[in-house]
Amino acid sequence: MQERSRIILRFADLIEKHNDEIAALETWDNGKPYEQAAQIEIPMLARLMRYYAGWADKIHGLIVPADGPHHVQVLYEPIGVAGQIIPWNFPLLMYAWKVGPALACGNTIVLKTAEQTPLSALFVSKLFQEAGLPDGVLNVISGFGPTAGAALASHMDVDKLAFTGSTGTGKIVLELAARSNLKPVTLELGGKSPMIIMDDADIDQAVELAHFALFFNQGQCCCAGSRTFVHERVYDEFVEKSKVRALKRVVGDPFKKGVEQGPQIDEDQFNKILHYIKCGVDDGATLEAGGERLGTRGYYIRPTIFSNVEDGMTIAKEEIFGPVQSILKFKELDEVIRRANNSHYGLAAGVFTNNLDTANTLARALRAGSIWINCFDVFDAAIPFGGYKMSGQGREKGIDSLKNYLQVKAVVTPLKNPAWL
Ligand code: ADP
Repeated sequence: MQERSRIILRFADLIEKHNDEIAALETWDNGKPYEQAAQIEIPMLARLMRYYAGWADKIHGLIVPADGPHHVQVLYEPIGVAGQIIPWNFPLLMYAWKVGPALACGNTIVLKTAEQTPLSALFVSKLFQEAGLPDGVLNVISGFGPTAGAALASHMDVDKLAFTGSTGTGKIVLELAARSNLKPVTLELGGKSPMIIMDDADIDQAVELAHFALFFNQGQCCCAGSRTFVHERVYDEFVEKSKVRALKRVVGDPFKKGVEQGPQIDEDQFNKILHYIKCGVDDGATLEAGGERLGTRGYYIRPTIFSNVEDGMTIAKEEIFGPVQSILKFKELDEVIRRANNSHYGLAAGVFTNNLDTANTLARALRAGSIWINCFDVFDAAIPFGGYKMSGQGREKGIDSLKNYLQVKAVVTPLKNPAWL
């Protein structure tokens, strides 16, 4: 156990040593701003691994009281071979969320990266080798979803499957797991998360937070605050200021200093986002900013803002996964709770208010796995993350993530001398 922990700690040190190189790979592969990768994501990868290194020697069983003269032990064993399929939006953070708990619990791993972003996982896995991880414990494969991914999901020797990606693909892998060996599956899927701005909030801060909640990582976040609900009393001011902020967003070469937004991941996603923008216009939402490609080279999209968005519009219902903010108007607290919850998704929700009662009410009423009050996208290693409804099954990070990689065994022994019980 101690050795397991040591190897993971050595890996985290190597990540820190190669921080800038790894960040550059992530930017090349994904197009995200280099500063974001170098200053936020790669340090977070090291933090996540250290968190799980801390767990490696602290997972232990229980002795439980049971009726009758029996000594009952509950053992937590590694589940076996963990199959893991990750997406392209945060390649290394998704790697850490999967590899960290699986290794801490003593499993072996076959991990498939997304076809768009294979580089960084290969590079850091070499560092795992340098850190002393025995051959065969961590196996990384680069491949396509319907072939390599499906083979993993349906393999009879894979004991557990962890998947992050779209809800549609999540359904496919769940079915493949069910049709093969009934391996348990954890799923982290799509979202259409509400960001609720109350009328008591500081408008400038609210605008900045809602902007971050949607536009971070080119809008390519499963938990993006993609339905910005704003109280009617502050709606017009909020829209005006959001428009100014979006027009100021720095879009361009992700390796350049100060760039906030790089290109979208690929042509498919780029076209999908432009299609959703057209849906917004056709459905009658008001296009306040952006709405088109930026330049003629690369998959850059101008930061886009729609106001007067109605719940029934396609852009308010479907996951866009791009830099398109939809701003909706509300009047009453009960009304916004009902509307925010009226989605098949339930990954996250943001709340911006100075009123403690409002914050507490919303925190309990909103059906989502993460509620961020006066903040958004806070992702420490110890905080569990996962979805309600069609946003997923199970939780990653935090103590809850360990359960995904442990098998529970009850060992019962009769106690023969009742006189001493
Ligand atoms: P996106 O549409 O955003 O690329 P996906 O859910 O399709 O999201 O992809 C997430 C991950 O799932 C990727 O690693 C991808 O290769 C994998 N994947 C895609 N299709 C399948 C499939 N049929 N079976 C298993 N994995 C798949």
